[in-house]
Amino acid sequence: SPEHATMLEVFEASLAATPDAVAIRYFDGVLTFADLDAASDALAAGLAEAGFAPGDRMGLYVQNDPAFVIGLLGAWKAGGAAVAINPMNKARELTYLLTDSGATALLCLEDLYASVARGVLPETQVRTVVTCSPLDRQARDDPRVLGDVVRARPEETLDLEELLTTHAGKEPTAPAPGGEDVAILTYTSGTTGVPKGAMNTHANMVFNAEAYREWMRLTPADSVLGVAPLFHITGLVGHIAVALLAGCPLVLAHRFHPEVVMDAIREHRPTFTVGSITVFIALSGVEGVTAADFASLRTIYSGGAPIAPAVTDQFEARTGRYIHNIYGLTETNSPSHAVPMGRRAPVDPNSGALSVGVPIYNTVVRILGEDGEELPPGEIGEIATSGPQVVPGYWGKPEATAESLPGGELRTGDVGFMDEQGWFYLVDRKKDMINAAGYKVWPREVEDVLYGHPAVREAAVVGVPDPYRGETVKAFVSLKAGAAATPEELIAFAKDRMAAYKYPRSVELVDELPKTTTGKILRRELRDQSAPATPTG
Ligand code: ATP
Repeated sequence: SPEHATMLEVFEASLAATPDAVAIRYFDGVLTFADLDAASDALAAGLAEAGFAPGDRMGLYVQNDPAFVIGLLGAWKAGGAAVAINPMNKARELTYLLTDSGATALLCLEDLYASVARGVLPETQVRTVVTCSPLDRQARDDPRVLGDVVRARPEETLDLEELLTTHAGKEPTAPAPGGEDVAILTYTSGTTGVPKGAMNTHANMVFNAEAYREWMRLTPADSVLGVAPLFHITGLVGHIAVALLAGCPLVLAHRFHPEVVMDAIREHRPTFTVGSITVFIALSGVEGVTAADFASLRTIYSGGAPIAPAVTDQFEARTGRYIHNIYGLTETNSPSHAVPMGRRAPVDPNSGALSVGVPIYNTVVRILGEDGEELPPGEIGEIATSGPQVVPGYWGKPEATAESLPGGELRTGDVGFMDEQGWFYLVDRKKDMINAAGYKVWPREVEDVLYGHPAVREAAVVGVPDPYRGETVKAFVSLKAGAAATPEELIAFAKDRMAAYKYPRSVELVDELPKTTTGKILRRELRDQSAPATPTG
């Protein structure tokens, strides 16, 4: 059983062990564990004074700034929970998340306050707003980081930096949260309906923070590089929770910019990171990158989206580093499966898919058939996961909870199988299957083949309406800098390597594929923008 019951206990243990150790590196600035403690005490005191009570929720609407971590700890110290909000969200989305979660407080970057939040707050229950600006000078001045954001300290809000002075030394008085209490509400992106707030409990987070620390063998001598957005479960657990638990520094960049992050890698020499594959493709594509730049990063994990074996091979050839696959959902607090550190994932001989690894300890995974029956190894079905990291449900949505989590077991919506040795493979997401004249085509497999073409940088395959087949296979491809290939060549390349019903009938070359802020390619958007395809192959 875990050493700690709550994330606050996790933090307090590292604080007690090494108060003066660096907890966060942010450009030129550092915050020690003691700094984080003092700042979050002051925030908690300020919140309490403004009426924030135990059990209340505070939205976090900030980029990958130290203020995010202060906000999390502050909400917990005030006896409440945090609501993780994507800083890319606009008024409509922000209103929904604040209203659905019933948040009464909001920690918000000044510019997001001025441009978005101020206008929507009257429609919500938010009474207390704490604004902040990026806590580091260099970040404020680097145009690559902030762009043309104008600082404007609003008069009607509390200010984080000011609270740190006015409330310095005030200890929080709220009762500490318990393991079963909600630590964070993280919202699904809402591809299948309205976004749902997954209730990530302290016990959920502590369990998976420990899983990261044990599997990646992290100690206070390590350093975690943050490349995923902090509002996403990968950032919350794979960056913040694990760094707090291991008692090691977390290296943050305001938002992901490949050159800025490469600079941080060269300067701070982080040892571990986890993010989406698109992030690693971008980093290895920065001009002048050599294997020496990646020498400190002994452990790299990629999760959240499929990875093609050809891509990890190319990354390794350039950087000398192997990318380990890791799999999980918001509802599993980051990993349910991972490739053990130092092991290489096997590749499925039939589909060419890279294994997502094996279940982490205490995690039970079943493959279910159409009628919910359990399938034997080798058979393809829906992945169903239970374990201490699986959320108890969705905030205020008992029906959605009953549907997705019957008996506490998560129906992931992912289709996959387990081989005889116990390695798991994802075939695709249930809803992305293409039905071409009755043939099932899984986009993943087609994409993996396209990634094998030397000119291909990124590929996304979707089903588009077709008068004869119902649906047909279309690929969107971006090419590597300086590389050339025509759609006809790419179609022929795929045609040589797969059954006739699978290869793309059309290929559209694009500069960039649409992505979520977590770096996931948005097949949904490509599907929506696709006019019926003209067969070319
Ligand atoms: P929504 O579920 O609302 O569409 P989302 O996809 O952003 O949003 P997340 O919880 O962030 O939801 O992502 C979980 C999904 O990401 C998984 O269900 C799976 O499809 C995909 N995924 C995660 N890790 C991997 C991996 N290693 N390989 C392939 N796919 C992965």
